[in-house]
Amino acid sequence: MNIKYDPKSPKAEEFISHREVLETLEYAEKSKNDAGLIGSILEKARQRRGLSHREASVLLACELPEKNEEIFALANQIKNDFYGNRIVLFAPLYLSNYCVNGCVYCPYHIKNRHIPRKKMTQEEIRREVIALQDMGHKRIAIEAGEDPVNNPIEYILESIDTIYSIRHKNGAIRRVNVNIAATTVENYKKLKEAGIGTYILFQETYNRENYEKLHPTGPKHDYAYHTEAMDRAMLGGIDDVGLGVLFGLENYRYEFAALLMHAEHLEAVFGVGPHTISVPRIRPADDIDPSSFDNSISDDIFAKIVACLRISVPYTGIIVSTRESKATRERVLHLGVSQISGGSKTSVGGYAEPEPEDEESAQFEVSDRRTLDEIVRWLMELGFVPSFCTACYREGRTGDRFMKLCKSGKIQYCCHPNALMTLKEYLEDYAAPETKAVGDALIQRELATIPSEKIRQIVTGNLLKIGQGMRDFRF
Ligand code: SF4
Ligand code: SF4
Repeated sequence: MNIKYDPKSPKAEEFISHREVLETLEYAEKSKNDAGLIGSILEKARQRRGLSHREASVLLACELPEKNEEIFALANQIKNDFYGNRIVLFAPLYLSNYCVNGCVYCPYHIKNRHIPRKKMTQEEIRREVIALQDMGHKRIAIEAGEDPVNNPIEYILESIDTIYSIRHKNGAIRRVNVNIAATTVENYKKLKEAGIGTYILFQETYNRENYEKLHPTGPKHDYAYHTEAMDRAMLGGIDDVGLGVLFGLENYRYEFAALLMHAEHLEAVFGVGPHTISVPRIRPADDIDPSSFDNSISDDIFAKIVACLRISVPYTGIIVSTRESKATRERVLHLGVSQISGGSKTSVGGYAEPEPEDEESAQFEVSDRRTLDEIVRWLMELGFVPSFCTACYREGRTGDRFMKLCKSGKIQYCCHPNALMTLKEYLEDYAAPETKAVGDALIQRELATIPSEKIRQIVTGNLLKIGQGMRDFRF
């Protein structure tokens, strides 16, 4: 079938044209040792203008060692220029693992009869949120399987309300991102009204044929409905959307090119690219063996994907979860990752009390099992500033407003002070004494780097007030 490629089309098969992806891969393969072309692509990337999916695919395929070095160095540079040394922290909260879909890579698939099915009541959610607040989290991503009977939109909305309403000691969840199945414009409007941050939906794979095999049953089988979900989310008023693929299901170069085509489509149609991109790799889980998927990628390729994404979409946050080990996370933090999860549980419940062994309901095995406090200290010892900032959407800086600030570089004036003030809150309320000592010293050093004297004075004053018990300052 000869389907045209059109980034502005509302149809999935046209904005993620299979033929265009294949031609891109062919072009990248042909150009992978073309030092002149790669040099000129890198030159464009140095101007921070981002790259097209074709250009980025050439970099991903590049086999020239010295050019690869340049790619990694540039990714690191762009990360520093746009995101400084800050890393935003969040945690997932699984509400329910009831699911009517048949995804073959996920243990929540409908045919799995032995995994315990759980759906938290509002009281259980309350307890989990208090436990998350007591860890120090301010930003969470809620997750739920697709099940119109057990997890209707009303349940999700009620849960969001519950989460935002809980005030325990100095704790508060200030941003709820939502990762639920593709839905209607009407339901996206309701999520927007509920005050969600980012709507996240992983594509899993962009290859339609493979997608249909991997999703043999259930509403998720419909490739077009799933792939066009972000368009509906935008039409519903959600202007911060998070893309992602599950690396390991399909040839990674295919996914990479298509992921960028999706980003280009959103930019072309709505004037705003994705707010975040997640890069999960398939992990072991209840009845899932990652070795049964033959497209798994090495740590080196994973690092290259992150670096090439950083260069190609400099204004889009990159998220890495606890699926990845401490060592892998450390490597990619330098290449462009701007958000990580910490202290995560991937089961339904499990923050307030650990799940009994015979009732485990995890969606995948966590690789990085450290506590949030260990992660905070580790980040600081690596020279990063852990941030619990949630300021933007609370200040109405979403969608194109956010992107304009980002592109002008002005967002830095908000991110850095907000990182210091939210870190201070964490240190005062939740940190172990050694973490607090490391953090207080870091804040003093970082304060001195704020270029504007006026802002430095405001932040210094706010830090003092935080020490006296006041909370929630932001720019
Ligand atoms: S990936 Fe999502 S939709 Fe698929 S089975 Fe798991 S929870 Fe359900
Ligand atoms: S100021 Fe905005 S962009 Fe910066 S860390 Fe906070 S929420 Fe993120």
